[in-house]
Amino acid sequence: MDYNQIFDNHLQNLHKEGRYRVFAPLERICGKFPKAVYHAPDGSSKEVTIWCSNDYLGMGQNKTVINAIKNAVDNHGAGAGGSRNISGTQKLHIDLENSLADLHQKEAGLVFSSGYAANEGALSTIIKLLHDPIIFSDEHNHASMIHGIKSGKCEKYIYRHNDIEHLKELLQNADPSRPKIIAFESVYSMEGDIAPIQEICDLAQKHKALTYLDEVHAVGLYGKRGGGIAEQRGLLDQVDIVEGTLAKAYGVMGGFITGPKNIIDAVRSFSSGFIFTTALPPSILAGALASVEYLKSSEIERARAQSNAKYLKQKLEENNLPYLKGESHIVSLIVGDATCCKAVTNILLQEYDIYVQPINYPTVPKGTERMRLTATAAHSTKDIDKMVDVLTALYQEHNVLNLKTG
Ligand SMILES: *Cc1c(COP(=O)(O)O)cnc(C)c1O
Repeated sequence: MDYNQIFDNHLQNLHKEGRYRVFAPLERICGKFPKAVYHAPDGSSKEVTIWCSNDYLGMGQNKTVINAIKNAVDNHGAGAGGSRNISGTQKLHIDLENSLADLHQKEAGLVFSSGYAANEGALSTIIKLLHDPIIFSDEHNHASMIHGIKSGKCEKYIYRHNDIEHLKELLQNADPSRPKIIAFESVYSMEGDIAPIQEICDLAQKHKALTYLDEVHAVGLYGKRGGGIAEQRGLLDQVDIVEGTLAKAYGVMGGFITGPKNIIDAVRSFSSGFIFTTALPPSILAGALASVEYLKSSEIERARAQSNAKYLKQKLEENNLPYLKGESHIVSLIVGDATCCKAVTNILLQEYDIYVQPINYPTVPKGTERMRLTATAAHSTKDIDKMVDVLTALYQEHNVLNLKTG
């Protein structure tokens, strides 16, 4: 048995398909975001502009957040010292969970190590605790939701992305007496489009289904207090469980769910991924809490991110670049081929000091490989102008869609 060969074959396949993942080692520079130092494989380094960060509001370098983290380290030290059940629960956990419940106007909140862990832990546990449920899941749901649904083990129907008619049809064909869950996202991170939350909640009410909404790419960014799209649209009371992250717009680390007291308490009590792991450290909790509270009142960052996204789309439109026309701040430019996508992003990095990670299968379907651009609150008009000028030149001069062959 040649174990080495087996793994090598898998890696060779990735290389052949042009989707071997190469990470870009960066050194973020506090105060200079979206600029960072990029360390190339040859040992050289240079300053680049990041165009694919999820630190949408620059909160990862926000003074209030950094000071909260520093103070927490000074006052409480490094680690939490245990799992939530065994000595790891900090007062800061409770403060953060209360702050998140308040954000979504829910009875309770629960913090996990990451958004991934929150989706996996919450969905699998909710499924297991319901008696023989049926789950309805959007086809573009995040890997963490898919993982949670799979480990929950129940009958499952995938509805076409944001297709309310398809969801309706599937619900109508389902046994009315069985428990049901509809799991979906608000802002879809690879398309930049937004779910018809009202229509989904109306269907859920009609068919007595629980709604589970992933607002990972919306919390901090949308709504008067950063609650997300459901807050912005006045729909918070219609969604049962909201899931989010503290690692994207909030700029720190960690994930969470908010919802009715009994559901949250049941997940707390039964979720293996919540219970059997060390609790987040005081520094991260303090930073996340500072960020959530800060963005409940400050609108400057949200406004700047929105106007930058709008300006980016307007410039792409003027230059006829093929971006997906979603309503959100995420702007995806389709390339349509893995090798080609990698070639374009390599040129951007090597010749123009612009860093965009190519997005390939299985993150997106084959044939829809793309560059996912995020104009954050920290990007300047000059950054955006440069980006669109370079992309326009690349698409024209190199004919991006033919890069793979020549
Ligand atoms: C990133 C992401 C997650 C996971 O959140 P982390 O805090 O990064 O683990 C969950 N859902 C969606 C839609 C995401 O994009």
